[in-house]
Amino acid sequence: MNLLQFLYLVATPIGNLGDISQRAIDTLCSVDFIAAEDTRVSAKLLNHYHIKKPVLSYHQHNAQGRGEEIVNRILAGESCAVVTDAGTPCISDPGEELVKLCAENKIPVIAIPGPNAAISALAASGLPSGRFSFEGFLSVKKTGRIAHLNEIKDDARTLVFYEAPHKLLRTLKDMCEVLGDRRVSLARELTKIHEEIVRTTLSEAAAYYEENTPRGEFVIVVEGKKPEDLPRVDLSDAVKIMEDLIENGEKPAAAARRAARETGYRKNEIYRHITGIKSDSKKKM
Ligand code: SAM
Repeated sequence: MNLLQFLYLVATPIGNLGDISQRAIDTLCSVDFIAAEDTRVSAKLLNHYHIKKPVLSYHQHNAQGRGEEIVNRILAGESCAVVTDAGTPCISDPGEELVKLCAENKIPVIAIPGPNAAISALAASGLPSGRFSFEGFLSVKKTGRIAHLNEIKDDARTLVFYEAPHKLLRTLKDMCEVLGDRRVSLARELTKIHEEIVRTTLSEAAAYYEENTPRGEFVIVVEGKKPEDLPRVDLSDAVKIMEDLIENGEKPAAAARRAARETGYRKNEIYRHITGIKSDSKKKM
């Protein structure tokens, strides 16, 4: 079977080779060529599944020239699958520029879903997973790291970061300094032999890794800011937030929930205040 002139983003295992989907294998077997972040790394996966296809390299340093070459080949009638060293292309990995280029050239892009370290770590973290923010890698520069953390320190959503082992300790220390001592889940070596999920606090994690050298790949999942730790605003400000949201089309219950989350007041407090205001104004009439 030959695939259409599409770009396929094929997710590959983040450690355990058994985690590839049948559809991912079928796609890799059917495209005309594969663009791989590192052709030697992908060769192991392709050999394991006896997939024999022309492979070219596509990584952050050749993305521009190679991207145009890939797009021209697809426009000329070929199909291409993008794979990275591990996980889902475009997620802290090459692919984003190529997708943009395909979109500009009206080439359909199909994502073949599969492993992703951030989502697996979040799912296993034990921290709220309903709303989260994926923050990728923090800057290697201290000023960049601190600025990034300051930007998100009031976010109530769970925060998900990627980090390399040799940078883990200084990142945990910076997080502790800027975010405060929050709960954290460290997902190490997911799907591999030494897989481990450690649920602790940022200060305890930093103290532990001060004594023990971090080894392997890590996802850091940090609890969001607790509503009670948010700067306390006036109750009338919370009411105003709720009323503005309703005016902009939000349903009252959802508006109250969001106003409560943003201000640290309980939903009922805000409701009571509104009802109080209304009955006061009735009395005056
Ligand atoms: N695109 C990949 C994905 O979908 O997860 C992420 C690639 S990014 C360059 C690599 C980072 O992902 C690592 O530094 C680590 O933070 C995280 N990571 C990848 N594999 C992992 C694993 N098996 N266990 C824990 N973290 C992992």
